[in-house]
Amino acid sequence: MAGIDALQFDDRFVRTLPGDPKRDNRPRQVLGAAYTPTEPTPVPAPTLVALVPEVAALLGLDPTPSAGLVDVLAGNRVVPGMAPYAACYGGHQFGTWAGQLGDGRAITLGEVVGAGGETFEVQLKGAGPTPYSRRADGRAVLRSSVRELVCSEAMHHLGVPTTRALSLVTTGAPVLRDLLYDGHPAEEPGAIVCRVAPSFLRFGSYEIHTARDDHETLRRLVRFTLERWFPRCVAGEALDVPAFFAEVASTTAWMVAEWLRVGFVHGVMNTDNMSILGLTIDYGPYGWLEPFDPDWTPNITDASGRRYRFGNQAQVAHWNIAQLARALVPLVDPAGVAALQATLEAFPRVLAAHHRHTSLRKLGLHAAHASDDAILEGMSAVLGAPGVELDMTLCFRALAEPLAGVGPIRRAYYGEPPHAHLVQLDTWLAAYAARVRAEGIDDAERARRMNAVNPLYVPRNYLVQEVIEATERGDGGAALAVLMDVLRQPYAEQAGRAHFAGKRPEWARVKPGCSMLSCSS
Ligand code: AMP
Ligand code: MG
Repeated sequence: MAGIDALQFDDRFVRTLPGDPKRDNRPRQVLGAAYTPTEPTPVPAPTLVALVPEVAALLGLDPTPSAGLVDVLAGNRVVPGMAPYAACYGGHQFGTWAGQLGDGRAITLGEVVGAGGETFEVQLKGAGPTPYSRRADGRAVLRSSVRELVCSEAMHHLGVPTTRALSLVTTGAPVLRDLLYDGHPAEEPGAIVCRVAPSFLRFGSYEIHTARDDHETLRRLVRFTLERWFPRCVAGEALDVPAFFAEVASTTAWMVAEWLRVGFVHGVMNTDNMSILGLTIDYGPYGWLEPFDPDWTPNITDASGRRYRFGNQAQVAHWNIAQLARALVPLVDPAGVAALQATLEAFPRVLAAHHRHTSLRKLGLHAAHASDDAILEGMSAVLGAPGVELDMTLCFRALAEPLAGVGPIRRAYYGEPPHAHLVQLDTWLAAYAARVRAEGIDDAERARRMNAVNPLYVPRNYLVQEVIEATERGDGGAALAVLMDVLRQPYAEQAGRAHFAGKRPEWARVKPGCSMLSCSS
């Protein structure tokens, strides 16, 4: 374990890829470059709120807090060997090409060669303006920073591919935000999360160069990506771009199937928020299903179109993957285009197969059986029954208990379900019990299987909101530490922590931050 000054840095990204020759942070179009060298802007009073020891360990970093470390995590000090930059990327936002976006408030400090020899991009979010900040301030508020820290770490412990978070600091500088976009801006505490991932490259990192007909920069970025993370797709001068695309499609399909397993709604699946490594990135107005509702979107900006609703995430991933395919077309010959198309056409089937497999595992069913389709359809019909609110997380945990009619599942409902619904549930339970008998497993084995894929603790929107309010009141990160500790073991029931496995309370139904999230962060 080394101090922050003694870590080993790797500057391959900035060394290999074309950079912006200009260094000023004036908002502008940056052409022919994958990044702009830029430094974080110092903050007045950095205070450490959380440091995640597992992520420090990944980096080989000594997790003992020190002033020198906190200064780096706040952007007040850059360690020799770091080569800070903001990445240039574009993206399709809500289905429309938005042109250049880029790291408007994220600054990668450098790449750290971790304890296991892999490299990790270490990135501050909210570290001040860059040429990609457009008209915004380059900063982040405490509320959204807590949300990113908690959820990315929770996802990791749930087994969902994700970026990680090393730390959270408050800056001592207020940030002005109009939370509900209703003309009432207010000052909020500013904060910086230090995020960690093998790479933060996004679909939009490639799209931007194709959109500008800059095939040279595109090719260099793709070569870099393949040599680094997809070495199977490089043979000397030749790049197997279709094979690379097939791998991205595969990891993306798996990631989305995993979101569906745990009830996660990303909320803003623009192509600039889609990782080339199939990681969940950019935690903004995300949410967790409480009452199961495939039409629910946490993002108030998405409330009218509901493009990013829970049940549309597979379709949006397909649409996004198609944008990546289009971005890669300049690098392939006609046979390559056909190969890209074939991968694209197969994507919905691949994702649906993952989802089906996972859905059966959520019911403890591992062997294939003729009644599987009927069981799954019946389960969806129960979960999504109109006029009924059934907590997704608690429903699957209750189902893992010995099957005894509707009994244990009753407590997963919000309010009293109508009689007709209980009859529907009872009928389905009888079919499910028969299917379980065909599987030939006892109650204990079924519970073991189910409780390994159906979490008990997820970062429910209201739980995170409670922590945000405690942190804003200045509890020094105490409530945050408890929640993060609970979420380290999401599948094992923890004594004395029933609060964290509770249904959403009534007060949280319409409260901003609990059911309605804003991109204002
Ligand atoms: P998002 O939808 O949060 O992923 O952000 C979309 C784009 O807006 C990205 O290019 C961000 O860097 C940029 N952005 C968001 N918030 C800010 C901010 N406060 N300052 C500068 N850029 C921002
Ligand atoms: Mg983003």
